[in-house]
Amino acid sequence: MQKTYHVFGSGISGVMTALHAFQAGFKVILYSQEADPHINKNSVLSSTWGGGPTRMMTLTEGEVYLGNSPLYPDMAQQFRKTVCDGGWLDRYDLSRSEQAWLAKRQLFNSKLGFAERNRNFYRKANAIGNTFWQKLFHDMPELFEDTFFTDQIVRCYDEEEHLKLSQRIHDAQNIMQKMCATSQELKDRHPYLTQAFANNYIAGAMEITGYSFNVQTFIINVLKRLTAHGAEINFETKVTDILLSKDGCISDLKMVKGDQNFLIQPEYGSFHLGAYDTTQALSSTPAKNSVMGVTGLWMKMLKPDQMSFSMKAHFNATASLPLTDLNLIINGDHLIVGGGYIFTGEKLLEISENSKNKTYEAMKKSLAKLFPENRLTDLEILDRACRRSFTYDDLPRMDALHTTKGGEMIIYAGDNTGTTSMAPCMSQMVISKLQQHASKDSIVEMLEEHSNLRSMSNNILENSANPH
Ligand SMILES: Cc1cc2nc3c(=O)[nH]c(=O)nc-3n(C[C@H](O)[C@H](O)[C@H](O)COP(=O)(O)OP(=O)(O)OC[C@H]3O[C@@H](n4cnc5c(N)ncnc54)[C@H](O)[C@@H]3O)c2cc1C
Repeated sequence: MQKTYHVFGSGISGVMTALHAFQAGFKVILYSQEADPHINKNSVLSSTWGGGPTRMMTLTEGEVYLGNSPLYPDMAQQFRKTVCDGGWLDRYDLSRSEQAWLAKRQLFNSKLGFAERNRNFYRKANAIGNTFWQKLFHDMPELFEDTFFTDQIVRCYDEEEHLKLSQRIHDAQNIMQKMCATSQELKDRHPYLTQAFANNYIAGAMEITGYSFNVQTFIINVLKRLTAHGAEINFETKVTDILLSKDGCISDLKMVKGDQNFLIQPEYGSFHLGAYDTTQALSSTPAKNSVMGVTGLWMKMLKPDQMSFSMKAHFNATASLPLTDLNLIINGDHLIVGGGYIFTGEKLLEISENSKNKTYEAMKKSLAKLFPENRLTDLEILDRACRRSFTYDDLPRMDALHTTKGGEMIIYAGDNTGTTSMAPCMSQMVISKLQQHASKDSIVEMLEEHSNLRSMSNNILENSANPH
């Protein structure tokens, strides 16, 4: 008999898992607190639906943000500053739990190269994710219709040293395509950057393997495909509580839709609630309070002439230019600009107007350096922040709980970044775990590596005296 798979959450992670569950032969039922995206495309309660619509898939997506990444050798110091002093931490309202988090994280990264191991994990997840994305482009091109899919990414850097370091990283992974570090090379391939280069605002640019697309249109296309094949999709339906039996198995889920409350008893399934609900819906589970937030802000501007690559612009933070990173993603005639990572701790929805405004100003300053010719007149603020999830040890949550019906459910949350890039890999891991077998050796390795890292991470935490 066909088994039913329940998915909770309709961000990129939930939807990709629903697609993989369907491909693995399950009947799929999806629940999300979101409104139907055909009707209402924006929500503040999701990092995929909140903020701007576009995302990048690069093979170093997760890696570059890790605390001890060679791209950010001094991040430990930067982390102590506000986003506007050269770091990315909102200090205007730093709670005790945020301070404790900082202390814990520093302790972690100092233990036995833990960050280095995490980086390897993300590298593999990105690389495996890439092969799955390629398969999807090939097998189901209709999912990418109207998504402004672009298969080229350019990275540019303000410092030569930074550019060279990144070149080495991309070379080592065989994903470096072309370096443009002279005026002529930029003129030939990226003329919209020549002025920034002439002003010494950038040291050069390089083309790398990667993709960008409109993730929200993609998800609508996936949902259409799933419903056309008999999946049941329930919007505006929220899971509020997970009830466990005495022996720790999931027995019932409390659900609410409008003023109706009801229970469901799932056998198989997974939770993909992003950053928002480990304090509430998941509070009876091991994932309780384990995921925090980093806010991203978004702007929209006209695309410079001749720009055909989506771009990641990296700036070394200074007092006068405090942002380290901007994503500029082609969306038709426009660019969607994402950036401004303000750490919010557990206060996911509270960011001071002051921090937000300063961050927008910093983003504008960086943009003015990239495009010094008057291109910013039409800059539009997309006033919808979104919270990227964040864990103290950089590892995503992947907890397995048995159900009283004899099946298993997975809690997946908290990939610090690159969830879009890695979504196909992580959703395959979730399905493989439930099927007690894996179709690909690399996925088995990833699962083992994840559980080893997670238990090492738990040990470090348990054995460390909390400094606060
Ligand atoms: C500025 C910025 C730029 C980014 N750029 C990139 C990029 O270029 N590449 C990349 O790979 N990643 C990028 N990211 C990260 C990426 O956007 C997120 O990691 C990803 O969208 C998270 O997806 P998710 O499915 O895990 O969570 P979410 O998108 O947050 O989805 C969670 C879902 O669960 C639902 N939900 C929550 N609680 C409940 C409940 N109790 N009951 C029912 N439903 C519930 C929510 O409504 C939502 O539908 C960026 C993030 C930011 C902020």
